[in-house]
Amino acid sequence: MSTSPQFKKLALIGFGLIGGSIARAAREQGLAGEIVTTARTAQTRARVTELGIVDAAVETNAEAVKDADLVILCIPVGACGPVAQEIAPHLAPGAIVSDVGSVKGAVVKDMAPHLPATTHFVPAHPVAGTEHSGPDSGFAELFIDRWCILTPPEGTDPSAVEKLRAFWAALGARVEIMTPDHHDLVLAITSHLPHLIAYTIVGTADELGQVTSSEVMKFSAGGFRDFTRIAASDPTMWRDVFLTNKDAVLEMLGTFNEDLSKLTRAIRRGDGEALFEHFARTRAIRRGIVEIGQDSAAPDFGRRHAPLGKKPE
Ligand code: NAP
Repeated sequence: MSTSPQFKKLALIGFGLIGGSIARAAREQGLAGEIVTTARTAQTRARVTELGIVDAAVETNAEAVKDADLVILCIPVGACGPVAQEIAPHLAPGAIVSDVGSVKGAVVKDMAPHLPATTHFVPAHPVAGTEHSGPDSGFAELFIDRWCILTPPEGTDPSAVEKLRAFWAALGARVEIMTPDHHDLVLAITSHLPHLIAYTIVGTADELGQVTSSEVMKFSAGGFRDFTRIAASDPTMWRDVFLTNKDAVLEMLGTFNEDLSKLTRAIRRGDGEALFEHFARTRAIRRGIVEIGQDSAAPDFGRRHAPLGKKPE
């Protein structure tokens, strides 16, 4: 627990996986004197009240941001511009306004023009998530040892950036600062393209004529299963990601298609050497990711199995 809260009032607009995780972690760490949240639907607001994690779940965005010194939009990227416009007249002077969107260029373009000069805009993206959404999906440990990327526009007050950096560090994240465009390029290859591939392959398997869906499910542990987890991610969030990070995704998709064509040619020609060389290079990348602690080396991604001879529970 921190000895004194970093913020007087934290306003969270949106209480799903990310907003709910911030609320839980900030409460546990005592980072805000008061946490007030809102969500689009009465149903989510009622559930937030039932959960009892925050001080109040209010009806409007305007009410939530009143007197807040930290406001974080935890809503789909496509909704950030209209919500920024809506809250702008109600923001307290000196407030830090941030978001958690998976795309940064579009968020900066859509939000910045609406925000008063008396506030500090520090966009953020916690690179942490699961395929679950909604008010019950969050958990306080989500950000531990995960990256949170801040993309402050040029000229942002360094002390506001430092305050938000310290906030994310207290939630357990490792913080890095970069430009919105660079963020979008990096995330296009590390997150957006893998999701697109997962969405594609799971859709393709579903449409196959020669292999039945029950066989696809039955033998999914052969690799397919790990794609299905990613392909179960929230459709609204991912629609917005591809609509708003179009250029970077198309650039990476072009390179990916060229590489896929190379592998297709190697298979067609029976070029074992090319295939082996490629797979050896990618295996080394995986080992590097495990070495820097970004994933577990446990067999089968750490899934637990019942001992031989016993049926799984
Ligand atoms: P989520 O669990 O679906 O929660 C979204 C929240 O936003 C809900 O409280 C929802 O309210 C509210 N909302 C939805 N549409 C809205 C609108 N048009 N106007 C105002 N509020 C709206 O989503 P999430 O996973 O937390 O994602 C939120 C943000 O975090 C997205 O920008 C996403 O890019 C980013 N992000 C997600 C992940 C991830 O893995 N999921 C990781 C990093 C960053 P209702 O419940 O009332 O509809």
